[in-house]
Amino acid sequence: MLMNHSIIYCSQISNSYYLAMETKPRPQLHIFFLPFMAPGHTLPLIDIAKLFASRGVKCTIVTTHANAPIISQAIKTSIGFGFEIKLVLIKFPSTEVGLHEGIESIKLEKTKEMRKGLVKATTLLQQQVEQVLDQHHPHCLVADFLFHWATDVAAKFEIPRLVFHGTGFFALCALKSIMLYQPHLKVSSDSESFVIPSLPNEIKMTRNKLVPFLTLNGKTELIKLIKLSREAEERSYGIIVNSFYELEPDYADHYRKVLGKKSWHIGPVSLCNNVEIDRSERGTEGLVDEAKECLNWLNSKNLNSVVYICFGTMTKFSDSQLVEIAYGLEASGQQFIWVVKKEKNDKEAWLPEGFEQRVKGEGLIIRGWAPQLLILQHEAIGAFLTHCGWNSILEGVSAGVPMITWPVSAEQFYNEKLVTQILGIGVPVGAQNWEDGSLQSEASVKREAIEKAVTEFMVGNKQEEMRTRVLALGEMARRAVAEGGSSFSDLTVLIEELSFLGS
Ligand code: UDP
Repeated sequence: MLMNHSIIYCSQISNSYYLAMETKPRPQLHIFFLPFMAPGHTLPLIDIAKLFASRGVKCTIVTTHANAPIISQAIKTSIGFGFEIKLVLIKFPSTEVGLHEGIESIKLEKTKEMRKGLVKATTLLQQQVEQVLDQHHPHCLVADFLFHWATDVAAKFEIPRLVFHGTGFFALCALKSIMLYQPHLKVSSDSESFVIPSLPNEIKMTRNKLVPFLTLNGKTELIKLIKLSREAEERSYGIIVNSFYELEPDYADHYRKVLGKKSWHIGPVSLCNNVEIDRSERGTEGLVDEAKECLNWLNSKNLNSVVYICFGTMTKFSDSQLVEIAYGLEASGQQFIWVVKKEKNDKEAWLPEGFEQRVKGEGLIIRGWAPQLLILQHEAIGAFLTHCGWNSILEGVSAGVPMITWPVSAEQFYNEKLVTQILGIGVPVGAQNWEDGSLQSEASVKREAIEKAVTEFMVGNKQEEMRTRVLALGEMARRAVAEGGSSFSDLTVLIEELSFLGS
């Protein structure tokens, strides 16, 4: 029988824990992972499961049928190495919430109605997860932050629930501070800046850049879900953070000491993909040809001469915004790879006429999915124009690529501050407003701003300093995940603690 551990903290258990380790043979630790159905949440949690499995932990990933192929692909190499990692499938209740069969990921939403259905469906998985926990009796449940009910489910089985957040310490601290002190309610307009109180650095923000759940008072399903998830997080055993100590030491300390939340940093987790096929096929069921084509193109380019542009998996820009990007890139005269989440057969109203012909040889558009890890690691990439999703930032840092920042939603405006103000490894394009993905909206960043940011960065004198800094951070990232490094050691501590709790 497992103990009830919700109030046991690392420092409190240390003595009895080492005694117990010496006296009792321990069963193999078995962890269940429950990734949220969106690539930016699923991909790092698969990497985390692979990391645990590589350290001798038995890992089971719970997912749904339509999400299974990508996960199966991602764990093939680990299984080949003999690590214990497998999938358990549950049914995504698409039809129950009015969605077509097979619509099982937030990335497939096309309308607000679909988003509502998808979010609702994720709240209906609780019973099935309870059933599989009952069958398998794992020692711990690592569930995405958005599965708020996972804390209660784990408590029912008397096992710890760890939250996987998908963002770094800086954003966690900034958000928590805003929620505690409510500085955004003390300014008179959405564009008036305020200082986020009680952080290690002076960080200014405006209401325009805040996640709407702070200002909208729970009006949408997603906002309600986020509020419930925050409450469940407070009651959880602790948090797994995809970051490394050397990247944001003041904020890792602040989060733990001042904000009092127990956490383990074990990233950058994407660095566990050290076999090439895992990098080229990450997030797909097989991309080898496109990956080869894009790498061949990059092989023909000079060192640091190409801008890589990608807005992650969830950003939905209006056609008018995409047109501005195209004109801005063309006017910059810089070489680029631009990833656009459009299918090949779309009527391409988002592309200025003759654009691809004019930029031929200088610019490459990837429609759909790009092998981002491989692209960023290519020596021809000189800058990353990014929406500041946390995975993308960590991947840019790990590859030593400086950034042009264009945050759009989620916690991306905080991540921008970390990159531009604290780490000094990027420059902002000038985005001012959090966007909800309304496809009718006007372009909020105009072609002139895009041209200016890209040109100044690529031909200006700031990029060398930034590259030096980000290369050093990339080196620290690799050291952090190597044996004896800060992330490697934190994972060891976590595994030992969970093993103790489960024995
Ligand atoms: N990604 C990719 N190819 C793409 C788009 C995204 O491999 O064409 C990966 C990227 O490497 C990252 C993840 O998808 O690991 C996106 O996560 P992020 O946090 O950057 O953004 P989100 O999509 O969650 O906004």
